[in-house]
Amino acid sequence: MILPVVKYGDPVLRKKGVAIEKVTPEIKRLVDDMFETMYNAAGVGLAAQQVGQALQLTVIDVRAVKDRPSRMEIAGKVVDVAEHMPLVLINPKITPFGDPTKGPEGCLSFPEVYADITRPDSVEVEATNAEGKTVRFKAGGLLSRAVQHEVDHLNGILFIDRMTSETKAEIKDEIDALQAETKELLKKKKK
Ligand code: ZN
Repeated sequence: MILPVVKYGDPVLRKKGVAIEKVTPEIKRLVDDMFETMYNAAGVGLAAQQVGQALQLTVIDVRAVKDRPSRMEIAGKVVDVAEHMPLVLINPKITPFGDPTKGPEGCLSFPEVYADITRPDSVEVEATNAEGKTVRFKAGGLLSRAVQHEVDHLNGILFIDRMTSETKAEIKDEIDALQAETKELLKKKKK
């Protein structure tokens, strides 16, 4: 089922996700719905907060992006990224490392907003997958950026928080309008 994507201005985007104790059938269904929602919106990642659930859960698939390479390493060996997609990361713990690298980012909760964000170019990840198993890998390139962006969501952090003040000033009107629109929509829903 395609779920509505929560837009900036909805307080759930600022909530830290609760850890998932067990991969229940409900969680599996949510994972399926999140993938359907993400593919439908042509996104590379989606966090539970973006479908209104403050949980430590995100889904990622970088295969559709051909012009921005990703790297992945498991147990010290470089692996084929496509073979390990899509990713379900439950309760992820990450350690970003490497040179700060600037790259373009968008977010399904901020339609039409794109900006350069600087993040460490690599990341080490430990998480539980949809089968309840522990997965560990290192990622670089787009995959690293996607993991860092999504794990930020799980902690209530948004990409606008990572923008330089100059970039944020440039898009201020756009995001203020989006926030006002979302709040108006939420008000209507409550009535
Ligand atoms: Zn996002």
